[in-house]
Amino acid sequence: MHDTDLDIAIFGAGIAGLWTLARLRQSGYRVATFERHALGGVQSIASQGIIHGGTKYALTGKLTGSAMAIGEMPGIWRAALAGDGEIDLRDVRVLSPNQYLWTTGSLASGMAGFFAGKVMQSRMQTLARTDCPPPFDDRGFRGNLYRLEEPVLDTRSLMATFAEQVGADCRLLPAMPTFVRVDGGWRFRLPDGREIGARALVLAAGAGNADLLAALGHAQPVMQTRPLHMLMLRGDLPPLHAHCLGASANPRLTVTSYPLGDGRQVWYLGGDVAESGTQRSADAQIAAGRAELAELLPWLTLRDVEWATLPVERAEIATAGGKRPDDAYVGANDGVITCWPTKLAFAPRVARLVGEAIDALGITPSGGRYAGDGLAHPPLARLPWDGVAQWS
Ligand SMILES: Cc1cc2nc3c(=O)[nH]c(=O)nc-3n(C[C@H](O)[C@H](O)[C@H](O)COP(=O)(O)OP(=O)(O)OC[C@H]3O[C@@H](n4cnc5c(N)ncnc54)[C@H](O)[C@@H]3O)c2cc1C
Repeated sequence: MHDTDLDIAIFGAGIAGLWTLARLRQSGYRVATFERHALGGVQSIASQGIIHGGTKYALTGKLTGSAMAIGEMPGIWRAALAGDGEIDLRDVRVLSPNQYLWTTGSLASGMAGFFAGKVMQSRMQTLARTDCPPPFDDRGFRGNLYRLEEPVLDTRSLMATFAEQVGADCRLLPAMPTFVRVDGGWRFRLPDGREIGARALVLAAGAGNADLLAALGHAQPVMQTRPLHMLMLRGDLPPLHAHCLGASANPRLTVTSYPLGDGRQVWYLGGDVAESGTQRSADAQIAAGRAELAELLPWLTLRDVEWATLPVERAEIATAGGKRPDDAYVGANDGVITCWPTKLAFAPRVARLVGEAIDALGITPSGGRYAGDGLAHPPLARLPWDGVAQWS
Protein backbone atom coordinates (compact mmCIF):
# COMPACT_ATOMS: atom_id res chain seq x y z
CA MET A 1 0.00 0.00 0.00
CA HIS A 2 1.27 3.51 -0.90
CA ASP A 3 1.20 6.15 1.80
CA THR A 4 -1.44 7.87 -0.35
CA ASP A 5 -3.73 4.84 -0.21
CA LEU A 6 -6.69 4.80 2.09
CA ASP A 7 -9.18 2.22 3.26
CA ILE A 8 -11.93 4.80 2.90
CA ALA A 9 -12.04 8.23 1.26
CA ILE A 10 -14.93 10.41 2.41
CA PHE A 11 -16.08 13.40 0.36
CA GLY A 12 -17.65 16.26 2.31
CA ALA A 13 -16.91 17.66 5.77
CA GLY A 14 -20.41 18.48 6.93
CA ILE A 15 -21.88 16.62 9.89
CA ALA A 16 -22.30 13.38 7.91
CA GLY A 17 -18.67 13.28 6.74
CA LEU A 18 -17.24 14.35 10.08
CA TRP A 19 -19.19 11.99 12.34
CA THR A 20 -18.43 9.14 9.94
CA LEU A 21 -14.73 10.07 9.83
CA ALA A 22 -14.53 10.10 13.61
CA ARG A 23 -16.23 6.70 13.92
CA LEU A 24 -14.15 5.02 11.19
CA ARG A 25 -10.96 6.38 12.71
CA GLN A 26 -11.94 4.90 16.07
CA SER A 27 -12.38 1.53 14.34
CA GLY A 28 -8.84 1.70 12.97
CA TYR A 29 -9.60 2.50 9.33
CA ARG A 30 -7.10 4.48 7.35
CA VAL A 31 -9.53 7.21 6.38
CA ALA A 32 -9.57 10.86 5.32
CA THR A 33 -12.26 13.39 4.44
CA PHE A 34 -11.84 15.58 1.37
CA GLU A 35 -13.71 18.87 1.47
CA ARG A 36 -14.29 21.26 -1.38
CA HIS A 37 -14.85 24.41 0.63
CA ALA A 38 -14.99 24.60 4.44
CA LEU A 39 -15.15 22.25 7.41
CA GLY A 40 -18.69 22.47 8.71
CA GLY A 41 -20.50 21.96 5.48
CA VAL A 42 -23.13 23.97 3.75
CA GLN A 43 -26.31 22.77 5.43
CA SER A 44 -24.75 21.70 8.72
CA ILE A 45 -23.32 25.07 9.74
CA ALA A 46 -26.49 26.79 8.49
CA SER A 47 -28.85 24.42 10.30
CA GLN A 48 -30.84 25.49 13.32
CA GLY A 49 -28.89 23.05 15.46
CA ILE A 50 -31.97 21.33 16.90
CA ILE A 51 -31.46 17.71 17.89
CA HIS A 52 -34.95 16.57 17.04
CA GLY A 53 -36.47 13.66 18.86
CA GLY A 54 -39.41 13.36 16.53
CA THR A 55 -41.98 15.53 18.25
CA LYS A 56 -42.06 17.89 15.32
CA TYR A 57 -42.84 14.90 13.11
CA ALA A 58 -45.60 13.65 15.33
CA LEU A 59 -47.55 16.84 14.95
CA THR A 60 -50.10 15.20 12.70
CA GLY A 61 -51.25 13.29 15.75
CA LYS A 62 -49.68 9.93 14.92
CA LEU A 63 -46.11 8.70 14.96
CA THR A 64 -44.84 8.45 11.42
CA GLY A 65 -41.79 6.44 10.28
CA SER A 66 -39.45 9.36 10.76
CA ALA A 67 -40.69 10.10 14.25
CA MET A 68 -39.76 6.55 15.23
CA ALA A 69 -36.36 6.49 13.51
CA ILE A 70 -35.36 9.79 15.00
CA GLY A 71 -36.64 9.05 18.50
CA GLU A 72 -33.36 7.55 19.64
CA MET A 73 -31.16 10.37 18.32
CA PRO A 74 -31.35 12.87 21.23
CA GLY A 75 -30.16 10.13 23.62
CA ILE A 76 -27.10 9.39 21.47
CA TRP A 77 -26.29 13.09 21.17
CA ARG A 78 -26.88 13.74 24.85
CA ALA A 79 -24.43 10.98 25.79
CA ALA A 80 -21.87 12.48 23.35
CA LEU A 81 -22.43 15.97 24.77
CA ALA A 82 -21.88 14.59 28.28
CA GLY A 83 -18.60 12.99 27.18
CA ASP A 84 -20.12 9.55 27.62
CA GLY A 85 -20.98 8.64 24.07
CA GLU A 86 -19.47 7.32 20.88
CA ILE A 87 -17.90 10.75 20.18
CA ASP A 88 -16.69 13.20 22.81
CA LEU A 89 -18.72 16.36 22.26
CA ARG A 90 -18.19 17.83 25.73
CA ASP A 91 -16.72 21.01 24.25
CA VAL A 92 -19.78 21.75 22.14
CA ARG A 93 -21.80 24.71 23.33
CA VAL A 94 -25.41 23.82 24.00
CA LEU A 95 -27.43 26.95 23.28
CA SER A 96 -30.44 25.50 25.06
CA PRO A 97 -31.04 22.13 26.73
CA ASN A 98 -34.67 22.31 25.59
CA GLN A 99 -36.74 23.43 22.70
CA TYR A 100 -40.22 24.86 23.18
CA LEU A 101 -43.44 24.49 21.26
CA TRP A 102 -46.09 27.18 21.42
CA THR A 103 -49.60 27.53 20.18
CA THR A 104 -51.31 30.83 19.57
CA GLY A 105 -54.63 31.51 21.28
CA SER A 106 -56.63 30.56 18.20
CA LEU A 107 -54.93 27.19 17.75
CA ALA A 108 -54.64 26.12 21.37
CA SER A 109 -58.14 24.77 21.87
CA GLY A 110 -58.30 22.92 18.55
CA MET A 111 -55.15 20.99 19.38
CA ALA A 112 -56.11 20.12 22.95
CA GLY A 113 -57.05 16.51 22.17
CA PHE A 114 -53.83 15.93 20.34
CA PHE A 115 -51.70 17.30 23.16
CA ALA A 116 -53.55 15.09 25.61
CA GLY A 117 -52.49 12.01 23.60
CA LYS A 118 -50.11 9.53 25.24
CA VAL A 119 -47.35 9.82 22.65
CA MET A 120 -47.13 13.55 23.00
CA GLN A 121 -47.38 13.53 26.78
CA SER A 122 -44.31 11.32 27.01
CA ARG A 123 -42.36 13.75 24.81
CA MET A 124 -43.34 17.12 26.15
CA GLN A 125 -44.15 18.97 29.30
CA THR A 126 -46.90 21.56 29.53
CA LEU A 127 -45.70 24.72 31.21
CA ALA A 128 -47.80 26.64 33.71
CA ARG A 129 -48.14 30.37 33.00
CA THR A 130 -45.82 31.19 35.90
CA ASP A 131 -43.08 28.93 34.48
CA CYS A 132 -43.04 30.42 30.98
CA PRO A 133 -39.69 31.95 30.04
CA PRO A 134 -39.39 35.19 28.02
CA PRO A 135 -40.93 36.15 25.66
CA PHE A 136 -43.87 33.96 26.78
CA ASP A 137 -43.98 35.49 30.27
CA ASP A 138 -45.92 38.43 28.82
CA ARG A 139 -49.63 38.95 29.51
CA GLY A 140 -50.11 39.27 25.78
CA PHE A 141 -49.31 35.55 25.32
CA ARG A 142 -52.65 33.73 25.00
CA GLY A 143 -51.58 30.30 23.83
CA ASN A 144 -49.96 27.30 25.48
CA LEU A 145 -46.29 26.52 25.90
CA TYR A 146 -44.70 23.06 25.97
CA ARG A 147 -41.13 22.06 26.72
CA LEU A 148 -39.51 19.38 24.53
CA GLU A 149 -36.47 17.42 25.62
CA GLU A 150 -34.56 18.35 22.47
CA PRO A 151 -31.29 20.28 22.82
CA VAL A 152 -30.22 23.09 20.50
CA LEU A 153 -26.52 23.27 19.62
CA ASP A 154 -24.16 26.00 18.50
CA THR A 155 -23.29 24.55 15.08
CA ARG A 156 -20.05 26.50 14.87
CA SER A 157 -18.83 25.09 18.17
CA LEU A 158 -19.96 21.63 17.02
CA MET A 159 -17.80 21.97 13.92
CA ALA A 160 -14.90 23.46 15.87
CA THR A 161 -15.02 20.41 18.17
CA PHE A 162 -14.85 18.06 15.19
CA ALA A 163 -12.02 20.17 13.69
CA GLU A 164 -10.09 19.74 16.94
CA GLN A 165 -10.64 15.98 17.02
CA VAL A 166 -10.46 14.90 13.37
CA GLY A 167 -9.40 18.05 11.49
CA ALA A 168 -5.95 16.57 10.89
CA ASP A 169 -7.59 14.00 8.60
CA CYS A 170 -9.64 16.59 6.67
CA ARG A 171 -8.07 17.90 3.46
CA LEU A 172 -9.06 20.66 1.10
CA LEU A 173 -9.92 19.47 -2.41
CA PRO A 174 -11.48 22.42 -4.27
CA ALA A 175 -11.60 20.79 -7.73
CA MET A 176 -13.42 17.65 -8.80
CA PRO A 177 -10.93 14.79 -9.19
CA THR A 178 -11.05 12.19 -11.97
CA PHE A 179 -12.15 8.78 -10.73
CA VAL A 180 -10.96 5.44 -12.07
CA ARG A 181 -12.30 2.07 -10.94
CA VAL A 182 -9.38 -0.27 -10.22
CA ASP A 183 -9.05 -3.73 -8.80
CA GLY A 184 -9.94 -3.57 -5.14
CA GLY A 185 -11.29 -0.06 -5.14
CA TRP A 186 -11.04 3.38 -6.68
CA ARG A 187 -8.24 5.77 -7.59
CA PHE A 188 -8.84 9.47 -7.93
CA ARG A 189 -6.54 11.85 -9.71
CA LEU A 190 -6.13 15.44 -8.56
CA PRO A 191 -5.81 18.24 -11.14
CA ASP A 192 -2.01 18.34 -10.58
CA GLY A 193 -1.71 14.66 -11.49
CA ARG A 194 -1.31 13.21 -7.99
CA GLU A 195 -3.32 10.07 -7.35
CA ILE A 196 -4.96 8.75 -4.20
CA GLY A 197 -6.32 5.24 -3.86
CA ALA A 198 -9.17 4.04 -1.64
CA ARG A 199 -10.88 0.69 -1.26
CA ALA A 200 -14.26 2.44 -1.02
CA LEU A 201 -15.60 5.97 -1.37
CA VAL A 202 -18.14 7.58 0.94
CA LEU A 203 -20.09 10.44 -0.61
CA ALA A 204 -21.18 12.76 2.21
CA ALA A 205 -21.13 15.94 0.17
CA GLY A 206 -24.75 17.05 0.62
CA ALA A 207 -25.89 18.75 -2.58
CA GLY A 208 -22.41 18.03 -4.01
CA ASN A 209 -23.22 14.29 -4.10
CA ALA A 210 -25.02 14.78 -7.43
CA ASP A 211 -21.84 16.04 -9.16
CA LEU A 212 -19.72 13.36 -7.51
CA LEU A 213 -22.10 10.63 -8.66
CA ALA A 214 -22.00 12.07 -12.19
CA ALA A 215 -18.17 12.17 -12.11
CA LEU A 216 -18.21 8.50 -11.04
CA GLY A 217 -20.61 7.61 -13.85
CA HIS A 218 -23.38 6.56 -11.43
CA ALA A 219 -26.98 7.30 -12.34
CA GLN A 220 -28.22 6.13 -8.92
CA PRO A 221 -29.08 7.12 -6.24
CA VAL A 222 -31.05 10.21 -7.23
CA MET A 223 -30.96 13.34 -5.12
CA GLN A 224 -33.66 15.92 -4.46
CA THR A 225 -33.18 19.40 -3.09
CA ARG A 226 -35.77 21.31 -1.10
CA PRO A 227 -35.02 25.03 -0.89
CA LEU A 228 -35.50 27.31 2.10
CA HIS A 229 -35.37 31.07 2.44
CA MET A 230 -34.26 31.55 6.04
CA LEU A 231 -34.60 34.84 7.91
CA MET A 232 -32.21 36.42 10.41
CA LEU A 233 -32.85 39.38 12.67
CA ARG A 234 -30.44 40.80 15.20
CA GLY A 235 -30.98 43.21 18.04
CA ASP A 236 -32.07 43.43 21.65
CA LEU A 237 -33.99 40.15 21.68
CA PRO A 238 -34.46 37.42 24.31
CA PRO A 239 -32.95 33.98 23.65
CA LEU A 240 -35.62 31.81 22.02
CA HIS A 241 -35.61 28.22 20.78
CA ALA A 242 -39.15 27.32 19.82
CA HIS A 243 -41.55 26.08 17.16
CA CYS A 244 -44.89 27.75 16.66
CA LEU A 245 -47.45 25.16 15.81
CA GLY A 246 -49.60 25.90 12.78
CA ALA A 247 -52.39 23.97 11.18
CA SER A 248 -50.12 21.51 9.33
CA ALA A 249 -47.57 18.88 10.29
CA ASN A 250 -44.79 21.41 9.75
CA PRO A 251 -44.12 24.12 12.30
CA ARG A 252 -45.46 27.45 11.11
CA LEU A 253 -42.36 29.14 12.47
CA THR A 254 -39.18 27.79 14.06
CA VAL A 255 -37.03 30.28 15.94
CA THR A 256 -33.54 29.60 17.24
CA SER A 257 -31.29 32.27 18.67
CA TYR A 258 -27.60 32.92 18.99
CA PRO A 259 -25.85 35.34 21.36
CA LEU A 260 -23.58 37.78 19.54
CA GLY A 261 -21.42 38.52 22.57
CA ASP A 262 -22.40 42.20 22.78
CA GLY A 263 -25.73 41.64 24.51
CA ARG A 264 -27.62 41.28 21.22
CA GLN A 265 -29.08 38.06 19.88
CA VAL A 266 -29.63 36.83 16.35
CA TRP A 267 -32.96 35.15 15.79
CA TYR A 268 -32.81 32.60 12.99
CA LEU A 269 -36.25 31.87 11.51
CA GLY A 270 -37.28 28.73 9.66
CA GLY A 271 -40.48 26.70 9.32
CA ASP A 272 -43.33 27.40 6.89
CA VAL A 273 -42.22 30.97 6.31
CA ALA A 274 -38.84 29.73 5.01
CA GLU A 275 -40.40 26.93 2.94
CA SER A 276 -43.01 29.15 1.32
CA GLY A 277 -40.68 32.12 0.75
CA THR A 278 -38.24 30.61 -1.73
CA GLN A 279 -39.59 32.63 -4.65
CA ARG A 280 -39.64 35.91 -2.72
CA SER A 281 -36.96 38.58 -3.02
CA ALA A 282 -34.99 39.27 0.17
CA ASP A 283 -37.09 42.39 0.84
CA ALA A 284 -40.37 40.55 0.31
CA GLN A 285 -39.19 37.71 2.56
CA ILE A 286 -38.25 40.18 5.31
CA ALA A 287 -41.71 41.74 5.02
CA ALA A 288 -43.23 38.23 5.35
CA GLY A 289 -41.04 37.54 8.41
CA ARG A 290 -42.09 40.78 10.08
CA ALA A 291 -45.76 39.95 9.44
CA GLU A 292 -45.33 36.43 10.92
CA LEU A 293 -43.72 37.75 14.09
CA ALA A 294 -46.39 40.47 14.41
CA GLU A 295 -49.07 37.78 14.24
CA LEU A 296 -47.42 35.04 16.32
CA LEU A 297 -45.69 37.16 18.99
CA PRO A 298 -47.86 40.32 18.78
CA TRP A 299 -46.78 41.73 22.15
CA LEU A 300 -43.15 41.86 21.14
CA THR A 301 -41.83 45.22 19.99
CA LEU A 302 -39.08 44.77 17.45
CA ARG A 303 -37.33 48.11 17.84
CA ASP A 304 -33.96 48.67 16.17
CA VAL A 305 -33.67 45.16 14.79
CA GLU A 306 -31.83 44.52 11.54
CA TRP A 307 -32.82 41.86 9.05
CA ALA A 308 -31.14 39.62 6.49
CA THR A 309 -32.09 36.44 4.63
CA LEU A 310 -30.33 33.26 3.56
CA PRO A 311 -31.44 31.15 0.60
CA VAL A 312 -30.19 27.58 1.23
CA GLU A 313 -31.08 24.12 -0.04
CA ARG A 314 -31.61 20.86 1.78
CA ALA A 315 -30.16 17.89 -0.14
CA GLU A 316 -31.71 14.46 0.32
CA ILE A 317 -32.48 11.16 -1.35
CA ALA A 318 -35.27 11.70 -3.89
CA THR A 319 -38.73 10.64 -2.71
CA ALA A 320 -42.05 10.23 -4.48
CA GLY A 321 -43.58 13.67 -4.75
CA GLY A 322 -40.44 15.35 -3.42
CA LYS A 323 -41.57 14.94 0.18
CA ARG A 324 -39.17 14.99 3.13
CA PRO A 325 -37.63 11.50 3.50
CA ASP A 326 -38.61 9.67 6.67
CA ASP A 327 -35.10 8.61 7.55
CA ALA A 328 -31.42 9.06 6.82
CA TYR A 329 -30.29 7.51 3.53
CA VAL A 330 -27.16 5.35 3.12
CA GLY A 331 -26.79 3.20 0.00
CA ALA A 332 -23.85 1.25 -1.46
CA ASN A 333 -23.20 0.60 -5.14
CA ASP A 334 -19.97 -0.50 -6.83
CA GLY A 335 -17.64 0.51 -3.99
CA VAL A 336 -19.38 3.85 -3.49
CA ILE A 337 -21.42 4.53 -0.36
CA THR A 338 -23.69 7.54 -0.74
CA CYS A 339 -25.36 9.23 2.20
CA TRP A 340 -27.74 12.05 2.97
CA PRO A 341 -28.63 12.33 6.66
CA THR A 342 -31.82 14.40 6.02
CA LYS A 343 -31.30 15.85 9.49
CA LEU A 344 -28.30 16.97 11.50
CA ALA A 345 -29.74 14.83 14.28
CA PHE A 346 -29.35 11.71 12.11
CA ALA A 347 -25.53 11.96 11.84
CA PRO A 348 -24.86 9.08 14.30
CA ARG A 349 -27.27 6.89 12.34
CA VAL A 350 -25.51 7.71 9.06
CA ALA A 351 -22.12 6.82 10.57
CA ARG A 352 -23.49 3.50 11.85
CA LEU A 353 -25.06 2.60 8.50
CA VAL A 354 -21.87 3.55 6.63
CA GLY A 355 -19.90 1.28 9.01
CA GLU A 356 -22.30 -1.57 8.22
CA ALA A 357 -21.97 -0.95 4.47
CA ILE A 358 -18.15 -1.06 4.77
CA ASP A 359 -18.39 -4.35 6.68
CA ALA A 360 -20.66 -5.72 3.97
CA LEU A 361 -18.00 -4.85 1.38
CA GLY A 362 -15.54 -6.94 3.39
CA ILE A 363 -13.16 -4.01 3.99
CA THR A 364 -11.19 -4.44 7.19
CA PRO A 365 -9.23 -1.68 8.96
CA SER A 366 -5.57 -1.53 7.95
CA GLY A 367 -4.59 1.05 10.56
CA GLY A 368 -2.15 3.92 10.15
CA ARG A 369 -2.89 7.47 9.15
CA TYR A 370 -3.11 9.30 5.86
CA ALA A 371 -0.06 11.52 5.33
CA GLY A 372 -2.10 14.21 3.62
CA ASP A 373 -0.35 14.41 0.27
CA GLY A 374 0.59 18.02 0.92
CA LEU A 375 -3.07 19.06 0.72
CA ALA A 376 -4.10 21.96 3.01
CA HIS A 377 -6.70 21.66 5.77
CA PRO A 378 -10.08 23.28 5.08
CA PRO A 379 -10.96 26.41 7.06
CA LEU A 380 -13.85 26.35 9.54
CA ALA A 381 -17.19 27.37 8.00
CA ARG A 382 -18.84 30.62 9.09
CA LEU A 383 -22.24 30.95 10.74
CA PRO A 384 -24.85 32.41 8.34
CA TRP A 385 -25.08 35.74 10.21
CA ASP A 386 -21.29 36.14 10.23
CA GLY A 387 -21.37 36.09 6.45
CA VAL A 388 -24.07 38.75 5.94
CA ALA A 389 -22.69 41.55 3.75
CA GLN A 390 -25.46 44.01 4.56
CA TRP A 391 -28.22 44.02 7.16
CA SER A 392 -31.36 46.02 6.49
C1 LIG B 1 -31.57 26.06 7.06
C2 LIG B 1 -31.51 24.64 7.55
C3 LIG B 1 -31.87 24.35 8.86
C4 LIG B 1 -31.79 23.03 9.34
N1 LIG B 1 -32.07 22.80 10.65
C5 LIG B 1 -31.92 21.56 11.13
C6 LIG B 1 -32.09 21.32 12.52
O1 LIG B 1 -32.36 22.23 13.31
N2 LIG B 1 -31.95 20.04 12.96
C7 LIG B 1 -31.63 19.01 12.13
O2 LIG B 1 -31.53 17.88 12.62
N3 LIG B 1 -31.44 19.21 10.81
C8 LIG B 1 -31.56 20.46 10.30
N4 LIG B 1 -31.33 20.68 8.98
C9 LIG B 1 -30.90 19.58 8.12
C10 LIG B 1 -29.38 19.35 8.29
O3 LIG B 1 -28.71 20.58 8.34
C11 LIG B 1 -28.82 18.51 7.16
O4 LIG B 1 -29.56 17.33 6.98
C12 LIG B 1 -27.37 18.09 7.45
O5 LIG B 1 -26.62 19.16 7.97
C13 LIG B 1 -26.72 17.60 6.16
O6 LIG B 1 -25.37 17.31 6.46
P1 LIG B 1 -24.38 16.85 5.34
O7 LIG B 1 -23.08 16.62 6.01
O8 LIG B 1 -24.96 15.77 4.53
O9 LIG B 1 -24.31 18.10 4.30
P2 LIG B 1 -23.57 19.50 4.34
O10 LIG B 1 -23.55 20.10 5.69
O11 LIG B 1 -24.20 20.32 3.25
O12 LIG B 1 -22.07 19.16 3.98
C14 LIG B 1 -21.68 18.73 2.71
C15 LIG B 1 -20.23 19.14 2.49
O13 LIG B 1 -19.78 18.56 1.28
C16 LIG B 1 -18.94 19.50 0.62
N5 LIG B 1 -18.84 19.15 -0.80
C17 LIG B 1 -19.73 19.38 -1.79
N6 LIG B 1 -19.24 18.88 -2.96
C18 LIG B 1 -18.03 18.34 -2.69
C19 LIG B 1 -17.06 17.68 -3.47
N7 LIG B 1 -17.23 17.48 -4.79
N8 LIG B 1 -15.94 17.26 -2.87
C20 LIG B 1 -15.73 17.46 -1.54
N9 LIG B 1 -16.64 18.08 -0.75
C21 LIG B 1 -17.77 18.51 -1.31
C22 LIG B 1 -19.64 20.84 0.88
O14 LIG B 1 -18.73 21.93 0.69
C23 LIG B 1 -20.04 20.66 2.34
O15 LIG B 1 -19.02 21.08 3.21
C24 LIG B 1 -31.39 21.99 8.47
C25 LIG B 1 -31.04 22.28 7.15
C26 LIG B 1 -31.08 23.58 6.69
C27 LIG B 1 -30.66 23.88 5.28
